[in-house]
Amino acid sequence: MTERLRIALQKKGRLADDSFALLKKCGLRFAIRGDGLLARVKNMPIDLLLVRDDDIPSFVANDASDIGIVGENVLVEEQLVAKDKLDAEITMRLGFSRCKLCLAASESSGIMKFGDLEGTRIATTYPGVLGRFLKDQNIDAKLVEMKGAVELAPSIGIAESICDLVSSGATLEANGLTAFETILESEAVLVQSGRKLSPEKQALLDKLMRRIDGVIKSAETKYIMLNAPKDKVEAITALLPGSDAPTIIPLAGSDNLVALQAVCTENIFWETLEDLKALGARAILVLPIEKMMS
Ligand code: ATP
Ligand code: ZN
Repeated sequence: MTERLRIALQKKGRLADDSFALLKKCGLRFAIRGDGLLARVKNMPIDLLLVRDDDIPSFVANDASDIGIVGENVLVEEQLVAKDKLDAEITMRLGFSRCKLCLAASESSGIMKFGDLEGTRIATTYPGVLGRFLKDQNIDAKLVEMKGAVELAPSIGIAESICDLVSSGATLEANGLTAFETILESEAVLVQSGRKLSPEKQALLDKLMRRIDGVIKSAETKYIMLNAPKDKVEAITALLPGSDAPTIIPLAGSDNLVALQAVCTENIFWETLEDLKALGARAILVLPIEKMMS
């Protein structure tokens, strides 16, 4: 019987949909339904373990799962609060679910920088990361540990400030709070323990990681096509962000125009297109790339 690689994923929440989408783009076929704990991937020997995100680092460390996808914030927090060192390390950064763990307070609190926290109360669901920050900065403050709705703590009078995840800042703003310090930046990461996998599982994981790499790269990469005056090809190529040597094709019926095509590994902004046009480029097309393998 083939061994099945097990991947722990958040079942439901802000990490879940993007994690499922990433695996689907990697060619895994599966359906998530009901409240099942395990979902079978139909076309590869892979099972998905669907759990709460907080459990993912310890499941990976304790061999309940071979790898996991989790927010870096949760991994760091679980490592800091674990009784014994958790055997779970980042093997790959995934670039989605970007957020920051910030300290925030209202204007009326008089807290505007972390130095002002001395002797105050800070509400958080991240006692590990916040505790480490306060210790590093030599600040004596009281942690008020909560399970959620941290942003309400100042208005109900149980803390002067909060330490919480921020992405757009809208939740903070709605509660009259302003972030004044970032203590951790986070994105989704692939985690694995130090245990050696069987050769079959390792080969499958290598294949999956190559595909993930391709998916991440192709999301940022664009294919650009344009017509350009021959004498401007060099100047135009220099403007293309992160491109190798472009392909130059003669244009039928034109002596001084060529078609230029290139893969750009960085985002192409409107400003770049305007600069290209100013150099004489015409009929500029920017196309998404669906898959990449180099
Ligand atoms: P669970 O029920 O699995 O414990 P949760 O309520 O702890 O879920 P979510 O709110 O779903 O967690 O967030 C999961 C992860 O998504 C966070 O730990 C963080 O890494 C990331 N995240 C949180 N907020 C945002 C956000 N606003 N935008 C993008 N990613 C976020
Ligand atoms: Zn959680």
